[in-house]
Amino acid sequence: SNSTTGDAKVDEALIHYQESQLTSSEDEIKKLEDSEIEQTSMPFEDDNLINKLERPLYAISGAEAANASNALLLENTEIYKKLLDEPITEPKVGGLIRENDPVAGKGNATIMALVQNKDVDAIVGTIQQLEEKFNAKFAYPYTLMNEEYFTDEFKNRITSMLPVDRVVHFAKIDSEDWDVPEDIDMKKYKENMNQLDRDSVQYAKKISYHNMCRFYSSKFYHQDVLNNYKYVWRIEPNVNFYCDIDYDIFQFMEENQKIYGFTLSLYDSPQSVRSLWNVTLGFVKENPHYLNRNGAFEWIKENLQKPENFNMTDGYSTCHFWTNFEIVDLDFLRSEPYEKYMDHLEKQGGFYYERWGDAPVRSLALALFADKSQIHWFRDVAYHHFPYTNCPSSPMGSRRCDGKCTPGVFSAYDNLIVENCLPTWIKYSMSEEQLDMY
Ligand code: GDP
Ligand code: MN
Repeated sequence: SNSTTGDAKVDEALIHYQESQLTSSEDEIKKLEDSEIEQTSMPFEDDNLINKLERPLYAISGAEAANASNALLLENTEIYKKLLDEPITEPKVGGLIRENDPVAGKGNATIMALVQNKDVDAIVGTIQQLEEKFNAKFAYPYTLMNEEYFTDEFKNRITSMLPVDRVVHFAKIDSEDWDVPEDIDMKKYKENMNQLDRDSVQYAKKISYHNMCRFYSSKFYHQDVLNNYKYVWRIEPNVNFYCDIDYDIFQFMEENQKIYGFTLSLYDSPQSVRSLWNVTLGFVKENPHYLNRNGAFEWIKENLQKPENFNMTDGYSTCHFWTNFEIVDLDFLRSEPYEKYMDHLEKQGGFYYERWGDAPVRSLALALFADKSQIHWFRDVAYHHFPYTNCPSSPMGSRRCDGKCTPGVFSAYDNLIVENCLPTWIKYSMSEEQLDMY
């Protein structure tokens, strides 16, 4: 996982902060936060928003920063635990659609996974759990994609585990949406990946992983098989669901104007996205009208919990939604800002010359172009993808959850607690209304 970059890097980052006013005490940080809030509610002005994107969230410097980092991590861990310790069941909104409702399962939606033939057991495990906890009640179709043809054995395994009337699309991805584009310089790719590999970036030398990240960033929603769908819930082999979901999650998205739903938010390996922020800022400066004045800017400009990440990327926290779980309104991905942003990223070649993940790419687009009130943390959806978990508490006596996860425990590995970005999301991106929704 992320390697440390040493004190020199941190110092370098802190010199940068000195350009803005020097602050250190909690009071001062508070003041800064308040002024951020004021800025957000000012009338729409492109320059203002760009300024905000060029500033770190916390102005703090020198030796104070190390103490402040530790204090912030403690505070953040507390905030996270406290929220997940509150017993919850489902969103407190009117109009949830349940199993016996005539329109149950009638959302324009599909559950989707990219998967290889060899991973059939692992995807069967995921689908089994999702059926038990959610989809047996709502019967949404599945869409499985692969750059190779699915074998008959694979298809039989999937269809035979599901009710006969359940729709399953098996789709073959076109080579042009999967393989390395012609204009990628393979010599440069190899040189750069040797370096990233030495920097311990996971999957750096695995070309299929680069293809996968590009595919999930900019290609999957163009596949013909998704043409008539509006919402996609992405799943993966080998993940777990631990609590019942008794309402139609897609129609919840629609009724409540949500365009994106997530369960986990993490820091990324900064070596994998070294230039992504500068490339993104370049795009935004050319297209400031795409910025949403209610974007989640604080979350991407947070610079204190893992300052080395912010420094190495020249200004991006590396906070992202963990896209192995995502419920996304495809109209957002098909929108002009998102598509133009993808064109811009594609031109830079960073899916191959670096190892840009679809998660930071999707997350930057959402943080910049979407209204944060339209992004929903599914606190109630108990989800695990190694090594992280979103695990809510249940009211006494509730049988909603199966007890296979521990409420509030983000990771079983203590050294990974620092990788949790959700506290920053909670503090800066969630309104009272959102906090009160459970
Ligand atoms: P990680 O979660 O970042 O470690 O990556 P995964 O190995 O879980 O891959 C992410 C998703 O892409 C999963 O749904 C995989 O099944 C899928 N995936 C990864 N590589 C390939 C590939 O080469 N071909 C296909 N068809 N799917 C892939
Ligand atoms: Mn995975």
